[in-house]
Amino acid sequence: MLEAEPTVEAGTHLAELLAAIDRFRQRPKTNRQPQELAAELKGIRHAGDLLELEFAETTAAFSKTEEYNEQGSVSPIDWIRHQCRMSTGAVWNSLAVGEHLDDLPRSVEAVESAEIGYAHLTLMARTAQSMQGSSTAAPFEEGGLLDKAREYSVGRLWYFCHHMRHATDPEEFAAEQSRATESRTLKMSTYEDGSLALEGWIDPVGGAVVRSALEPLAQPHGDHDERGREHRNADAFVEVCSHVQDIGVLPQRPHLQVTASLDTLRAVAGSPAGDMEYSLPVSAATVRRLACDGTITRVVLAPESVVIDVGRARRVVAGAMRRALNARDGHCKWPRCERPAYWSDAHHVVHWTDGGDTDLTNMILLCHRHHWMAHEGGWQLVRTAEGEVLAVPPRPPGLARVADAEDPVEAARQFAEQLRVARSLRTDWPPGERVAAADDAAWARVMEAHDAAHHQTNQRSDLDDDSPDPAA
Ligand SMILES: [Zn+2]
Ligand SMILES: [Zn+2]
Repeated sequence: MLEAEPTVEAGTHLAELLAAIDRFRQRPKTNRQPQELAAELKGIRHAGDLLELEFAETTAAFSKTEEYNEQGSVSPIDWIRHQCRMSTGAVWNSLAVGEHLDDLPRSVEAVESAEIGYAHLTLMARTAQSMQGSSTAAPFEEGGLLDKAREYSVGRLWYFCHHMRHATDPEEFAAEQSRATESRTLKMSTYEDGSLALEGWIDPVGGAVVRSALEPLAQPHGDHDERGREHRNADAFVEVCSHVQDIGVLPQRPHLQVTASLDTLRAVAGSPAGDMEYSLPVSAATVRRLACDGTITRVVLAPESVVIDVGRARRVVAGAMRRALNARDGHCKWPRCERPAYWSDAHHVVHWTDGGDTDLTNMILLCHRHHWMAHEGGWQLVRTAEGEVLAVPPRPPGLARVADAEDPVEAARQFAEQLRVARSLRTDWPPGERVAAADDAAWARVMEAHDAAHHQTNQRSDLDDDSPDPAA
C-alpha cells in the first residue's frame, strides 16, 4: 500500500512523543509548592488540549477510510470507541472537532495559544455541526462564539451556544425540543409483590416540570430525616400523585420559574432562548405556552436585562374568571378531547403578548397535551362563526416560505411541489386529530384557515404600546 512509508514515519514521531511523555513523568515530584502544582496543572492541561487537537484531526481522517470495515467493525465511531477505549460521546466530540477545523481556524489558534480550552472548541464544533445540519440555520460564523469562549467558563459557553442557536435558528431549535417531547417514555413494571419499577426518559422541559414539582417536597424534613436523596425523591413522587388525587387541584405552577426577554416572549426573530430552572434553555414557543395562562412564576427581562415583570402577571387566569371558563368549556375544547377542566390550561387564542385580552371571549380550555400542540406543535385553533373549534395542522416545514421566491412562476412551482409533499405526509398526523383533506379543495381550505389564523395573530401584534406594566 502507498501509505507504508508515512506510517513508519508517523510511528517514529509517536515513539518520540511517548518518550518525551515518559521523561516528563519521571521528573522529580517531591516538595512541590502549591504555586508549582498550579502552574503544572495549567501546563499539563494545555499539553493535553494540543494532543486532543491531533486526536480530533486524526479521527476525522480515519472516519473517511474503510479501515474500520477491514477490521470488522460496524462504523469508524465504533472502532474508535473500542480500540481507543472511549465513551461514544467523547468519540463524537472528537469527530465534530476534526470535521470542523476548517470552520474554526481562529478558535484552533486560540487553543494552541492557550487562550481557550479544547473543551470550549468542542462546544463550538458541535454548534457548527448542528447549524450546518439544519436547513433553516444562518451560516455558521466562529467570531461571536470565540469572543465568548475567551471570556466564559465551559459551562457558561454551553448555555450560550444554546441561546445562540435559538437566535440564529429558532425553527430547528424548537423542532429539536418538540422531537424530544415526542420521545418521552415511562415504563412501569409491577413486581410479584406489587411494587412498581419505573424506568423512563423525559425531555428537558418536561424534566424541569417534574423536578420543580418534586424538589420542594424532596427536601429533608427537620433534624432527624435520615432518608437518602433517592428515597426522598420517591416519597415526593408518591406525595405529588396522591395530592392530585385527593383534591383534583386547578393547575398552578408557582414553583416553575422562567426567565425570558420580552423579545423571546414575542417570538421576535434573533431573540435568545428562555431560561428555565432545572432545564436547558427552552424555545420561544415553550416560553409562550408556559406564560400563556400565567400560572407560572414569571420573570421577564427587558432587552437591557432589567427585570420588568416579576411574579404573577395581571394576565393570570385565576379565581372567578377561571371558574367561569371551567363552567363554560367544561373540558379541553380540542376537537373530540374531553380531558376535565382541572387537567387543563387556560389558553389565550390570541396570546396576551400579541395583544390578546385575558377575558372569556379570548380564552379556551386545553389539556396539557393539546396546549403543547397549540404552541410547540404548531397547530392553529380556529373558531368558526358557529363557535365550533377547528384544529388546523402545522404547515410542513418550508411551505410558509414560498412567498419569498421572487419569480412568480418559480413560486408557483415550489408551492405545487410542497403541496404534493405535504399531502403525502398527511397520514403521519395523529389519526384522531387529522383534519380531513381528501381533495385539493379541502386542502386549500385548511391552508386558508391556517393563513387566516396567522394573519389574525399578526394583526394583533400591537405589543409596543402594551408592554407588561410593572405596576399591575
Ligand atoms: Zn396557550
Ligand atoms: Zn385535550
